[in-house]
Amino acid sequence: MKIAVVGGGIIGLSTAWQLLRRGAGVTLYERDRAGASTGDVAAGMLAPYAEVGFEELNLMKLGQLSLERYPQFLEELREDAGFVPELDTCGTLLVGVDRDDAQQVRRLYDFRKQLDMRIEMISSAEAREREPLLSPRVVTAAWLADDGQIDNRKLLSALLQAFRNRGGQLREQTPVDELVHRSDRVEGVRAGGKTHPCDAVVIAAGCWSDRIAGLPATAQPMIRPLKGQILTLKQTTDCEPVCMIRSPRVYLVPKSDGTIRLGATSEEKGYDTTPTAGGVKELLEDGWELVPSIYDLPLEEVRTGLRPAGRDHAPSIGYAGVEGLYYATGHYRHGILYAPVTAFSLADEIIENRPHGQLKEFSPLRFKKQ
Ligand SMILES: Cc1cc2nc3c(=O)[nH]c(=O)nc-3n(C[C@H](O)[C@H](O)[C@H](O)COP(=O)(O)OP(=O)(O)OC[C@H]3O[C@@H](n4cnc5c(N)ncnc54)[C@H](O)[C@@H]3O)c2cc1C
Repeated sequence: MKIAVVGGGIIGLSTAWQLLRRGAGVTLYERDRAGASTGDVAAGMLAPYAEVGFEELNLMKLGQLSLERYPQFLEELREDAGFVPELDTCGTLLVGVDRDDAQQVRRLYDFRKQLDMRIEMISSAEAREREPLLSPRVVTAAWLADDGQIDNRKLLSALLQAFRNRGGQLREQTPVDELVHRSDRVEGVRAGGKTHPCDAVVIAAGCWSDRIAGLPATAQPMIRPLKGQILTLKQTTDCEPVCMIRSPRVYLVPKSDGTIRLGATSEEKGYDTTPTAGGVKELLEDGWELVPSIYDLPLEEVRTGLRPAGRDHAPSIGYAGVEGLYYATGHYRHGILYAPVTAFSLADEIIENRPHGQLKEFSPLRFKKQ
């Protein structure tokens, strides 16, 4: 079976590699450089518990499912790439510095308790025992033991290596302009002025997914970009956080490469990726409020990424209404977390014709126009 995957981000690479493992011939088209897009900007949190919002129960379950599948994903990746990043289950401290924050942390705690998550309210003294760098201004804290994180940049390098080692064909600097299909059947993709025939196409082009011509009007992915600015600070011996720390406004994620990711803004600015003074100021102020010793850290990077957000903020994964056409897009704030569940289930669906029941509610056809 010949499959074209459009987009070389975390989702396209993971899916393409899993399809190769199941014996398909895969060509991956990337308009720029594979692995260099939003997944490279991300903080690398695998945090279904800290991140779940009040109306996002389905997303929490998807995140849980994907986190459970991470060990298998990494084991297979080690076989094919020869190296993988470590899955770090360091946990999250959810903290607040004033009365408004305290109420919000309490509400977040109550909601998680109702869902039977492992979460405990702890005193600010206990929070400082867990994380000595916390500001004395922290007045409220909850501990979530089950959240993890990963070096997302190393993960992308491993996926690229595994894709190559498994014999995948990589076409970089090659945007796909159009899906070619006739009478409800995919025939190929159009790129570089030519039609490249194939049996199936996976659209994994992040927030650019619905800019590809020829996608069926009956199941448009309806993805919009949500801009996120994020900073990378270099740790020093005076400032080496041991766990992820988040308040209602900001998060700090200590990475195994000796940096801290401090993020992130969430802005409706279309496809604009310009970093702004205001964004950087807010992140630094909010981060400093939680961990004052970041003040002296070298600022290594200011990065901006575009989260691919669907209409309902849930991903679209699976068959898209034309024979041979599949979507893997709209992963919004959780593409690193959802990579295993997306890749495993889509590969099952495409190769073994076995749609994953638990992913039914993320079908691209849920937006189908009647
Ligand atoms: C600041 C920030 C922090 C984040 N932190 C986290 C986190 O901690 N944990 C987490 O799970 N998620 C996080 N995310 C979200 C995560 O990064 C995204 O959900 C994920 O990267 C989306 O991956 P993707 O492969 O779908 O899209 P992308 O990474 O955007 O990749 C899409 C690729 O498709 C290519 N492309 C587009 N159009 C075409 C075309 N026509 N032809 C060929 N190629 C094309 C693009 O060049 C790009 O390489 C964060 C995002 C941001 C911005």
